[in-house]
Amino acid sequence: MDEILTALLSGEIVSGEKFSKTLGITRTAIWKKVSGLRERGFEIESIGRQGYRLVSVPDVLMTPLIASGLGTKWAGRQIICYETVDSTNRVLKTMAAEGAEHGTLVLANEQTGGRGRRGRGWLTPKDTSIAMSLLLRPEIPPASVALLSLAASVAVAKGIRQATGLTAEIKWPNDIVCNGKKVCGILLEMDANEQSVNYVVAGAGINVHLTEIPEEIRQTATSLDLECGHSVSRIEVVQAVMRAVEETEQLLQKGTFMSVYEQLSATLGHPVSVQAVGETFTGIAERIKEDGVLVVRTESGETREVMAGDVSVRGLMGYV
Ligand code: ATP
Repeated sequence: MDEILTALLSGEIVSGEKFSKTLGITRTAIWKKVSGLRERGFEIESIGRQGYRLVSVPDVLMTPLIASGLGTKWAGRQIICYETVDSTNRVLKTMAAEGAEHGTLVLANEQTGGRGRRGRGWLTPKDTSIAMSLLLRPEIPPASVALLSLAASVAVAKGIRQATGLTAEIKWPNDIVCNGKKVCGILLEMDANEQSVNYVVAGAGINVHLTEIPEEIRQTATSLDLECGHSVSRIEVVQAVMRAVEETEQLLQKGTFMSVYEQLSATLGHPVSVQAVGETFTGIAERIKEDGVLVVRTESGETREVMAGDVSVRGLMGYV
């Protein structure tokens, strides 16, 4: 299907006869592929005996649609799209173990077993969200992966800003919020030994066309469409995030990353409630250390260091 879609995307009239020769398949098989695209929402005109012409493209995650005009050096140079998977992180971890390369991107239009931190679930109903996982093979010590997790949130926040104009912010450590509600969760998983990192899978679930927020997350969640008041392109969001990944890499190399993270933070300077295992305390989120640890000044004036992974941080008045 990809060769035909790529040809249609170039604007040319795709001749069934020519394609059946180059692909070595029958014209009926070509017709079936075109029908499959139509069923997926593509508007394709049949122009007499000349062939097929693309009229409009639906907002679905398919490799040629994401690759067209992406323009990145390495992020998303290899793209694999699924209609439905249990978890894009799980699929990409398997691919990583089999040798997939740095920058491989796995996308799904639906996830049936999406995961958040600490074994919690992530909802990705069909065609409403982006489920994406990017493979990184960074040359860093395992201790620096926490910083990479902050970097992932900078890339997603920047990408959402660039694609939508929304003021996307980061709720420490790495939830992306718009107007105080969560539009995206991020989960990094790694394979490492004591000295080095073999790979990191950086996964993000972004709510795009979710207009009926499921009951269990209604208080804390929103979507890009709801915040923008119009339909946002999932394809453009994915492309913008991939470009922002490379921009964020530059920030890390230049040493200006932390100041950008701070500018995008919705948590810093705000009163927060830290919900750790067996204990909850409140204070002001004062700063974030280079290793990603959040420093909270409590009411008694002492500072406490909070590690991502162990806790939930909430605003005192609401989610942020
Ligand atoms: P918090 O700090 O909000 O407690 P977390 O960072 O621990 O969240 P994640 O691991 O990012 O949470 O995500 C899991 C949680 O996110 C779930 O328990 C659920 O409450 C919420 N959630 C699940 N699906 C979605 C979604 N599509 N949009 C927003 N929130 C969701």
